[in-house]
Amino acid sequence: MNLPYNAFPLDQDPYDVRGFPHRLYIGGQWLPSSDGGLIEVTDPSSGAVIAAVPDATLEDAAAAVEAAAKAAKGWRETAPRKRSEILRRCFELMVERSETLAMLISLENGKALRDARGEVAYAAEFFRWNAEEAVRITGEFGTAPSGANRIVVDYQPIGICVLITPWNFPAAMATRKIAPALAAGCTVILKPASETPLTAYALAALYSDAGVPDGVVNVLTTSTPGPLTSAMLADPRVRKLSFTGSTGIGRALLAEAAKHVISCSMELGGNAPFIVFDDADLDAALDGAMIAKMRNAGEACTAANRIYVQSGIHDAFADGLAQRMAALKIGAGTKADTECGPMITKKAVDKIDRLVKDAVSRGAKVLCGGSVPEGDGFFYPPTVLSEVSPDADMAHEEIFGPVAPITRFESEAQAILHANNTEYGLAAYLYTRDVARGMRVAAEIEAGMIGLNRGLMSDPAAPFGGVKQSGLGREGGQHHGIAEFMEAKYIAVTF
Ligand code: NAD
Repeated sequence: MNLPYNAFPLDQDPYDVRGFPHRLYIGGQWLPSSDGGLIEVTDPSSGAVIAAVPDATLEDAAAAVEAAAKAAKGWRETAPRKRSEILRRCFELMVERSETLAMLISLENGKALRDARGEVAYAAEFFRWNAEEAVRITGEFGTAPSGANRIVVDYQPIGICVLITPWNFPAAMATRKIAPALAAGCTVILKPASETPLTAYALAALYSDAGVPDGVVNVLTTSTPGPLTSAMLADPRVRKLSFTGSTGIGRALLAEAAKHVISCSMELGGNAPFIVFDDADLDAALDGAMIAKMRNAGEACTAANRIYVQSGIHDAFADGLAQRMAALKIGAGTKADTECGPMITKKAVDKIDRLVKDAVSRGAKVLCGGSVPEGDGFFYPPTVLSEVSPDADMAHEEIFGPVAPITRFESEAQAILHANNTEYGLAAYLYTRDVARGMRVAAEIEAGMIGLNRGLMSDPAAPFGGVKQSGLGREGGQHHGIAEFMEAKYIAVTF
């Protein structure tokens, strides 16, 4: 199915968005929810309802687990080469449909089309990378220290996986889990965020077209994720929970999974420091800050949330950043020239507004932006604050919006103290021409990922994940991503 992008408004049928089916996808069938319930999907640039997707019930969730269980043996026993070729086909189809998928992401998430295109390219890479890795899963063989036997270690698919994803990267957060799970030989049930379900269903159609057998990937949307997830985790055939989302929900799900001793991978919230030392290349640091702050209009777990700038370069950096941020074009994500789209909901705008007002009340100066605009849609303008107090709420909470708070620092030790003064530990950014200093500071910073003179580190070939309250486990990377979906089986052999 290679669909052209058709102009808005959408078809009258709530199950038809740009030709993509978007019912529950269970066992290869497109189904309404068992009680006919629907969840409305909103365009954040206007606040208008653009579609409706089924609101899955406990019965639907049970059917999805059943479908994943039925498909498990066949998929586990499918030759790695065949699994690899199907994943490769997913990659190719994603590339072919990239423009349509990007438009769909922009429509339901609001992000600028250029960001949506970037997301589709990144999301597709997880299929290419895991297609390449699927045929390189190896085991171990050795002699026991006593000499009594041989030690054989075989890596087996962990079993049925429940995958839960957020709205901020509706394609990439799904493929970052589905591709390694399928490469490992697992079957899955994906529960995407209700704010952005259309992309997940469009991708489900793509998997089917690529030859993924029925039941290997199941997708369901629900307005009651808590009870549905609890029910799925209580089924003894489910052996894995892979979650990306907020730390609060992640903690609750860890407790739920503990009841059934289920393996968990958790990609949670972030509060990334962005540190600029006096000796940094100013233009490179500004370029990096724009990417680290403004990719997805700041709605990214890796977004620079606290910007620490050394005294000698502080003023030039703050002026430069304010100029660049003020020049960004705001508008609906689907418009070709938009650089900063709307936030996902009004609630998100209200949170950003609260954080900015709190920082200003503690002495921050507004260099640009700083207030909610009039009009439709959930917009917040690109904003730069300087002299932000380390006690401001935004130094401790995820802003998740286009606000760049700058705090001055004097010494390397002070920068490290600031950077680590958070419960999170996902990403951090450092700008310095002194690579020895960069490596020294990188070693001291409590984060799972460091961008050294880079504003972007996400790469399917590198392990993505956090420490502290930012999560458990890694996605992507040479073996990390697939290992999350496998279990070691040790066989002691005497011969
Ligand atoms: P969220 O935690 O509110 O929701 C994430 C997903 O969990 C959604 O699908 C939601 O429907 C579901 N969910 C909500 N309550 C649930 C429950 N009780 N049981 C089961 N599922 C439930 O997060 P969000 O607002 O969608 O996304 C933003 C958050 O995600 C931010 O904190 C961001 O940092 C984080 N995030 C982290 C990464 C990462 O890789 N570490 C990537 C993207 C986003």
